[in-house]
Amino acid sequence: MRVRFWGVRGSTPTPQKENMGYGGNTSCIEIRTDTNQILIFDGGTGIRNLGNDLQQEHGDKPINAHIFFSHFHLDHIQGVPFFRPLYNPRNHFTFYFAGRRDANLVMDALAGMMANPYFPVDMSKLPCSREYVDLVEGTFTVADTRILVLPLNHPQGCVGYRIMQNGKVISYCTDVEHGVGWSDRNILMLAKDSDFFIVDAQYTPEELPDHIGWGHGSWQQAIEIGIEAKVKRIALYHHDPYHEDSDVEKILDAASKLYPNVIAAREGLEVSV
Ligand SMILES: [Zn+2]
Ligand SMILES: [Zn+2]
Repeated sequence: MRVRFWGVRGSTPTPQKENMGYGGNTSCIEIRTDTNQILIFDGGTGIRNLGNDLQQEHGDKPINAHIFFSHFHLDHIQGVPFFRPLYNPRNHFTFYFAGRRDANLVMDALAGMMANPYFPVDMSKLPCSREYVDLVEGTFTVADTRILVLPLNHPQGCVGYRIMQNGKVISYCTDVEHGVGWSDRNILMLAKDSDFFIVDAQYTPEELPDHIGWGHGSWQQAIEIGIEAKVKRIALYHHDPYHEDSDVEKILDAASKLYPNVIAAREGLEVSV
């Protein structure tokens, strides 16, 4: 499998020169399976550039992709209205979320963001074909991959994903606050022996005490749980909007001392698993 990072910033976009090294777009990653199926995780502002890239790649051929949401906080959905492949009737998309027990709620969350007076195009008017799937917690098959989905501790809920194909594993665990038993156990299950563990690392350990209940973790917690889960490689993700490139570099330096095989997720970065 192949992972590409299109948005790595947490909470809000940060288009300013101090952040351009790692990037200012909010959460969005693309996974290409070994059979070139397209799996997209989160629709933050990074999904806009992904849309342009997919259009260039496909030309006149239809795009068929699976879009999974960790949750519906704005930084994970706000790029969706600007994902241009939605405006082409040849394209087909399946949207997934878990835990609401109602596929209409998946649709409603996205449609609500595009409703009057927030956006001029009603979601029901989009010309692409699409379906909405409410996943039940557990393992399912999509596009020749096995995917495990489990809830994580975050205000208003969030889910993490474990994507498995041909003996390789990618884990996507963003927007999670540590220290709650059931959620910590779920992170371990999602991350266990993973080849590539993409994890919320919003804060420094020093910042964490002032952000209890905000739903995120520190880079140190990310490394500790990655070591416990025996993952092979860690990507620190969902960078705090107040962390400039120089701050992310410091975080990466400190994290490398605890665990050498760590990177800080950066827009445009591609990793083969
Ligand atoms: Zn977020
Ligand atoms: Zn969130």
